[in-house]
Amino acid sequence: MSRVAVSKSQMRTIRDLIAAFPSESPHSAYVAQHGALPLYVSWGATIGITPKGKIVEWSTEGDYEGLRPADPSWVISALVQGSKKWPALTALIPPRPPTAHTCPDCHGTGRIHGVPENIADGVGCSCRGVGWIEPQVEERRSMLSRLRDRLPRLRRRDGP
Ligand SMILES: [Zn+2]
Repeated sequence: MSRVAVSKSQMRTIRDLIAAFPSESPHSAYVAQHGALPLYVSWGATIGITPKGKIVEWSTEGDYEGLRPADPSWVISALVQGSKKWPALTALIPPRPPTAHTCPDCHGTGRIHGVPENIADGVGCSCRGVGWIEPQVEERRSMLSRLRDRLPRLRRRDGP
């Protein structure tokens, strides 16, 4: 289960943000249905947080009904994105572990250098936007990013 610890006052804050969620938003029906605040909106699915700190995911394309626990590897990204909109949630982002390294891709800023401001939120840094990487995760991520770098070439090769 993907979950973050929330204090009583944080629980109230999330509940208040859900209650005050703008009804004109395309997400308001999901917020009302699931009782969760959207943190990270991606193609076809949204990751949100419940007042109890459960990190959940719902489909916006009808791929499945109801809530699913979010993939644990997305929890930090979702909290980072969500706190840009709701700064009160910043306190829920896990603190940097003492063993963590500063992210080599963004040099600790959480944003990849050279990515224009307007699309930067949609382009996740390998550190998930926190600016640091846990040592055990670092090697796996750098391998993934090398694979990702090769992807456009592979796609082009398969193209028409
Ligand atoms: Zn980074």
